Amino acid sequence: MRSAGTTGTTVSTVSTTSAEFFVRAQKVLPGGVSSPVRAFGAVGGTPRVIVRAQGAEVEDADGARYLDFVGSWGPLILGHAHPAVVAALSAACARGTTFGAPCPGEIELAERVVGAYPGLEKVRFVCSGTEATMSAIRLARGFTGRELVVKFAGCYHGHADHLLVQAGSGLATFAKPSSAGVPAAFAQRTLVLDLDDEEALLALFRARGDEIAALIVEPLPANNGLLVQRPAFLAALRRATAQAGALLVFDEVISGFRVARGGMAQLSGITPDLATFGKVVGGGLPVGAFGGRAQIMDRLAPEGPVYQAGTLSGNPVAMAAGLATLETLEREDGWARLEQLGRALESRLAPVLAAAPFPARLVRVGSIFWIALQEGEPPRRADAIDPAAAERYRGLFHGLLARGVALAPSAYEVGFLSLAHDAGHIERFAVALKEVLAA
Ligand SMILES: *Cc1c(COP(=O)(O)O)cnc(C)c1O
Repeated sequence: MRSAGTTGTTVSTVSTTSAEFFVRAQKVLPGGVSSPVRAFGAVGGTPRVIVRAQGAEVEDADGARYLDFVGSWGPLILGHAHPAVVAALSAACARGTTFGAPCPGEIELAERVVGAYPGLEKVRFVCSGTEATMSAIRLARGFTGRELVVKFAGCYHGHADHLLVQAGSGLATFAKPSSAGVPAAFAQRTLVLDLDDEEALLALFRARGDEIAALIVEPLPANNGLLVQRPAFLAALRRATAQAGALLVFDEVISGFRVARGGMAQLSGITPDLATFGKVVGGGLPVGAFGGRAQIMDRLAPEGPVYQAGTLSGNPVAMAAGLATLETLEREDGWARLEQLGRALESRLAPVLAAAPFPARLVRVGSIFWIALQEGEPPRRADAIDPAAAERYRGLFHGLLARGVALAPSAYEVGFLSLAHDAGHIERFAVALKEVLAA
């Protein structure tokens, strides 16, 4: 029970339920949320208001607990409130939360990121994945002196104007903004291709290669289902950009420090010119980063003419959470353990999904998974996702939630395993899923 008077006039003396909180939320926050997908728009119903979390579980304001596979949408690779992260945060806070001056934490985390990621020599810290991709694109434009950017339909790179654009259809189709408020002129500097279409890629680079500053891609697209790419396609991106003198940007905001120490660059053996990070690298605090060869990174202010800055960038508290997270992953052989856990999840869920009344299969890379609710091979491009999946997912999502298992509230979002998950949690998930599919 909450005590009265903690926040002024409107707090009641009885405990506030999740639903009551959300009524209040909708009066003062657009949609009741600080980020749109949290609002349950795609699945219906009322979001749970979470008051605390520990390990693999979150607890809502009604005291209901959920086995959590959202992991705050990716950052929490150690689980919630990991003791090493909490201790590092407390110690850092006690020393001062931000100095607006260089601090040891940012140097140590930069050394770690540079040491972990293929081809990286320098890195700049920012406060979100959006800032990382936005700044990487500006840097690519400043470095090449060109304006056009190529992205892929279904890849999400945060909400900067130039990257918040819809699919055009193939070669040299100028993109339309996918949000109100993005000037058409901005979106027109972004060309959109389909994933897994090498012909369209080559045709675009033949036609306009010398105008292209950068091609940005999630090397493991994980924001529109989990669209695992053929290694040959990623290699084609590397070849096409190198030949055209354009920069290849791997957006590893989800995959970085999650699928391997060196992200998808390590797994694919392909080294991009620039890479962007977020989520895991901040250990649950607002951190993003982008990096590349010194020759490119030194074009940034104060060394070079490309401006980029941030009041809270590289602050010691955020850096401490990132450092504690990466240290713990190293010490506990985290990536190998997560792969084992992922394999266990896959083998336990496969027969359950195979017995579902509609087509369903698990797509998984390391600790990232997605339930593809459609026939055939797992899709490799956004337009290969069956729109009927969203309808099927709604029932699945709510059935699981009622049984105390939380997946992301959208058919297009992936799930995450953390080092806080164990075989018992996987069993609980499988049993709940089986019940829901039988119902
Ligand atoms: C989450 C994400 C972003 C945006 O990061 P924010 O911290 O939410 O701004 C960018 N790119 C990819 C691949 C992401 O998954």
